[in-house]
Formats: sequence, C-alpha cells, structure tokens
Amino acid sequence: MSELDCDVAIVGLGPSGAMLANLLGAAGVSVLVLERLPDVVPTPRAIHFDGEVMRAFQSIGLGDAVAAIARPGMEGMHFVNAAGRTLLVRRGSAGVGPHGCANNYYFHQPELERALRGGLGRYPNVQVRLGFELEAITPSGDGVMLEGRQVDAADAATQTFRARYVVGADGARSLVRKTMGSSRDDLGLHQPWLVFDVMLNPGVDLDLPRHTVQHCDPARPMTYCNVTDRRRRWEIMLMPGDDPAQLVQPDTLWKLVSRWVRPDQATLERAAIYTFHSVITQGWRKGRLLLAGDSAHQTPPFLGQGMCAGIRDAVNLAWKLAAVCRGKRRTICSIPTKPNARRTCGPSSTWRCNWAT
Ligand SMILES: Cc1cc2nc3c(=O)[nH]c(=O)nc-3n(C[C@H](O)[C@H](O)[C@H](O)COP(=O)(O)OP(=O)(O)OC[C@H]3O[C@@H](n4cnc5c(N)ncnc54)[C@H](O)[C@@H]3O)c2cc1C
Repeated sequence: MSELDCDVAIVGLGPSGAMLANLLGAAGVSVLVLERLPDVVPTPRAIHFDGEVMRAFQSIGLGDAVAAIARPGMEGMHFVNAAGRTLLVRRGSAGVGPHGCANNYYFHQPELERALRGGLGRYPNVQVRLGFELEAITPSGDGVMLEGRQVDAADAATQTFRARYVVGADGARSLVRKTMGSSRDDLGLHQPWLVFDVMLNPGVDLDLPRHTVQHCDPARPMTYCNVTDRRRRWEIMLMPGDDPAQLVQPDTLWKLVSRWVRPDQATLERAAIYTFHSVITQGWRKGRLLLAGDSAHQTPPFLGQGMCAGIRDAVNLAWKLAAVCRGKRRTICSIPTKPNARRTCGPSSTWRCNWAT
C-alpha cells in the first residue's frame, strides 16, 4: 500500500471545488485538486449570488477580490405580461442585509472562478493539477486510489494518487457520484432554454432596465438580466416546434431580442441551449467519497441559487473534513464579526474556523 499523497483530493475546480480548496487550505489540510480543463470554463453561466455566499467569500479572505468583479444588485425583479403590463414587483433591497453586505450580487462566472483560484496560491498545502482528467476511483484500505492522466500531454501515462478522502466537485456528470452508485431523485423539470449573452458596444446607451424582468408571455417566456457593466443576458424558453439548431443561428437569435437590442449595438458573447434540470442525488457520502455542488444537486437558474448551493456545500464540508483529518471531534471557531468570541464548532457556525491543534 503506497503512502497517502494528500488528506483530501478534490475532483473539479469549478466554484464548489475552488471554494472547498480555499477553506481546506486555510485549515492546513493537505489537498490535491484534479481538474480536467486547462483553464476556467470561459462561457458565462451563473450571474447571481446572495449575501450569504459573499459572506463565505469574505471568510476565505477573498471578499475584496470578489467585490471588485461583482455588482451589488439592489433593483429586484419585475414580472411583466405579454402586453407589457407589470403583474408583480419583487422589490430589491438597498443597503446592507443581514450578512453585513448586499443581499444580492451580479457577476461573470469566469471572473469569479479566477478570483477563487487566485486565493489558492496562498496555501503551499494545496496542489492543483490542471488539465488532469480523473478516470477511475477505487477505495482501498485507509484511502482512495485515483487514476487519471494529463489530457494536454500527448501519450500521457496513467498516474495514480492516494487520498484519505475524495470530494467530487466534478459537476453534473460526476464520475465520483457514478462511482458511489448514488441514485438521483428527478423532480421532473427538464426544460431547454436558450441563453443569450451580449456585451453592449462602447458608447451604446439603450433604454434597458436595471432590474431583472421575467417576461411572462405564454407564447415565449423570457428572462432579462442586467449582469455587470455592459454585460446583458436574455434566457429564452424553447417552445414546442422550435428547431434548436435553427434557434442558435445569428438571424434567428437577434430577431428574438429585436425589441431591445440590435446586432450593431452589442457583441454576442455566447448563445447556447441549456436544458435546466431539477435533480437531487440521494447519498452525498459513501465511505471516503463525498459530493459537493452540481454533482449532488441541480436547480434551474431562475432564482440564481445553483452555484450558491455548491458554495454552501463547501462551507458545510470543510470544517468537518478538517476536523476529521486532524482527528478532532471538537474544534474551536472564531467568528470574524465577533473577533473575541470563541465557541465550540457546530453545523451553524461554519465561518472561518481556526482549527484547534
Ligand atoms: C445558464 C446558467 C445560468 C446559471 N445561473 C446561475 C446563477 O445565477 N446563480 C447560481 O448560483 N448558479 C447559477 N447556475 C448554476 C452554476 O453555474 C452551477 O451550479 C455551478 O457552476 C456548479 O459549480 P460546480 O463547481 O459544482 O460544478 P462545475 O462548475 O460544473 O465544475 C465542475 C468541474 O469539474 C471538472 N471535472 C468534471 N469531471 C472531471 C474529471 N473526471 N476529472 C477532472 N475534472 C473533472 C470540470 O471540468 C469542471 O471544471 C447557472 C447555470 C447555468 C447553466
């Protein structure tokens, strides 16, 4: 039996994996992160997180780095019918919320992922292997054997690592979940939506709302979002009879949003069809294998909570894993807002744990 290479191997360096790596790094746990891609996923996906998640970013010392690329969203959401009449306004909340920051933030996911990855350089105990695809997971004795190869090297040989615990932050198609054999509860939503992201051209000043709009038009439901700076998004529901291949053709795309923006006013950043799912994995831990993020659950993006849930998973897992790796049953926390307060760590006190040694 070879020696352990790390206490915790994290598969996947998306937001969930990066958050967990930062937390475990701060807790002094030895971590190996394996990520198939050479860089962050460049296409925009999540655009909203909430105040609790900003608090989590602050807890790993990255509050300022994240604030620099995020916009506090105070404007709320309007629900509008096909005739343009406002049916309902879900008011935004200005100022500081219960977490000591804004209640909502808008951002560009690749920039957030870079900020989280930037934090990992602080921890010599966190090793990251980019461009490394995990291919097989075998629990063995007091650890787990991980086999994979460097995908960006020609004829790369299989490499093997041993970790005490493995966290599958490896997204919706998770290999870790499949290895665990966990089943998934399907909550019955599988809706294809066209996600259309543009950057308004410099100097173009359109009369677009600051708030989010849910266009409740039965003929074509859509969501409009003011993301950050000049970035705007429309999410457009596919209707019976739509040809997905035709829908992503530039002519068709721009017609769908022609009420608000023309191709000479904005640059298309990405248009792609995503099928939104609502699924929950049953069994997030089996022996030394654990799940976090989209590998454990997926939710449609309408309330902007999919990634937020993954960040909360990481916060929830990190202090427990760190305690187990140190062989501690009880740990002492210090909460940043109350620097002198020290108390026994529990499920609700997940912020910035300074692990008792
Ligand atoms: C259109 C859209 C809009 C969204 N809007 C929001 C929003 O506003 N707010 C919100 O909170 N959420 C939103 N989400 C959801 C959010 O993007 C995801 O929940 C989030 O990216 C999940 O993060 P993750 O780290 O769990 O997984 P991922 O981001 O999928 O990362 C998984 C990583 O694991 C790697 N990986 C997978 N398999 C292997 C392997 N075998 N070996 C090595 N590496 C591997 C992948 O390369 C990837 O980098 C949206 C999603 C979409 C599609």
